[in-house]
Amino acid sequence: MDESSGKNIQQLLDNADRAFDRTRFSEAADLAREAMRAAEESGEAVLESLARAKRGSALVQLGLYQKGLSELQDAVQSLIALQEEASGRQAYNYIAIAYEELGDLEKALEQYGRALELARLEGDIELEARVLANIGDAYVRIDQPDKATEYLTAAVPRLVNAGRHALAGWAEAGLARACILREEFDDADYWFHKALKHAEMGKALRCKGEVLTAFGNYLTQLGRHQEAIERLTEALAIAEELSVRWSIAEANLGLADAFEATGDAESALEHFKEYHRVHHLMVDEIARLKVTNLSAEIDLQKARYDREISYIKSVELAEALDELEQRKAQLERLSIRDPLTGAFNRRYLDQCLVREFKRATRHQRPMCLVMADADRFKQINDRYSHNVGDYVLAMVVEIMSSQIRSEDVLARFGGEEFVLLLPHTNIDGAVAACEKIRQSIETYPWHKTEEGLTVTMSFGVASSEGHDDWHEVLSEADRRLYLAKDNGRNRVEPPPDSVNSSDA
Ligand code: GH3
Ligand code: MG
Ligand code: MG
Repeated sequence: MDESSGKNIQQLLDNADRAFDRTRFSEAADLAREAMRAAEESGEAVLESLARAKRGSALVQLGLYQKGLSELQDAVQSLIALQEEASGRQAYNYIAIAYEELGDLEKALEQYGRALELARLEGDIELEARVLANIGDAYVRIDQPDKATEYLTAAVPRLVNAGRHALAGWAEAGLARACILREEFDDADYWFHKALKHAEMGKALRCKGEVLTAFGNYLTQLGRHQEAIERLTEALAIAEELSVRWSIAEANLGLADAFEATGDAESALEHFKEYHRVHHLMVDEIARLKVTNLSAEIDLQKARYDREISYIKSVELAEALDELEQRKAQLERLSIRDPLTGAFNRRYLDQCLVREFKRATRHQRPMCLVMADADRFKQINDRYSHNVGDYVLAMVVEIMSSQIRSEDVLARFGGEEFVLLLPHTNIDGAVAACEKIRQSIETYPWHKTEEGLTVTMSFGVASSEGHDDWHEVLSEADRRLYLAKDNGRNRVEPPPDSVNSSDA
């Protein structure tokens, strides 16, 4: 940075500060703008933000809330980005003042809280004192005299120590107003007396004006109309000199009340009109600000909604996808199974037969096919109903499934006929498996379902060995099944060779 330009910026800022302290707010705002420009030109980001904050504060004091708040908020944002938030701590105080004067006490207290926090963190006793006084004043406005007293009592000695007499006086006027709210008029007198003395001592004219307004209103309440009018007229002159809209409005309102109380309706009306004119300007400003704030808030909310919606959408999509996957899996499951029994269907069996037969020949591994058929099933249907027949078929599959390995495939071939595909299994293994199944079915307590019900099955076993085509194997198994039927049913019929081999 060019040293002379740096000095120049600092000087402009100091001048702005001084004007501000003397409550020359328009002058302060102009000087702060000059400082902003100079800082911008020399790339002094922190100084530029501090100048912007100063300008914003002055604009707020002048009742130009919209512009003031936006400058203050911009300044705070940049200072946070520059990791210089603490040096802009004053800004929070003026943001809070703006909110307070706009009637948003909740937001005001929040911002005062941040100002107080930073003031304490930085050991800025003067700011701490001023914020305490402002918080106290806010509580007076919302009719909480005890809270108000707590903060104002803490503020007064600190302000006196900091040499801020006018502000101390203003805080004491706050204490007096809190006393009025509690109807403790002797104490109110005491505090107003102190407030006026401090206000006279101080340089801050805005404070003096506001003390006079508060005191004037109090005198009206006491019925000391003439004194009230004198004080309020003095307050109005100060406010007009400073062009502080807030104070002008308040003083005019006080005067309208005071004149009305004396019976001077004409003067009362004049002041009332003036109050409304200034108030209208403020309200207009407030209305504009509210519109700006609201549209910003709506944008923010919209952005938030959009985000939420896209989130919800992605969640919904994910859920829908999940459901689709599940449905797909279910469909796939259904497409390869027989709905009555849950056994695989013929289509799936065919695929397995092709695949397993190839594997068996390629790896020269044994594989067996079993054709199983329920014995005299027609009689079961006839004796116990078709429903019982269905139930028996489902149970037969359950029993068979529980007896086979995971790589074995049980399929319903049609009616009461089933095919068992047993990979890596020789004849002996297949016969043993079928024998186990046969016994399980025979010994199952069918009579518990239907009195006198018995179920048995016949099995024909064939091996893939010596065959190039699975159709041949299946035909062989079918032939063995017929043999089992012929040989009395409820039996397992192995291929002729295996009987020999197992006998041998
Ligand atoms: P066998 O011991 O010689 O096999 O005698 P069977 O009565 O079992 O033989 P058959 O083929 O004459 O009769 C089979 C019966 O199975 C005929 C048919 O009504 C019945 N059936 C086929 N599919 C179903 C089904 O899904 N549910 C029921 N309840 N019965 C079925
Ligand atoms: Mg049958
Ligand atoms: Mg049959």
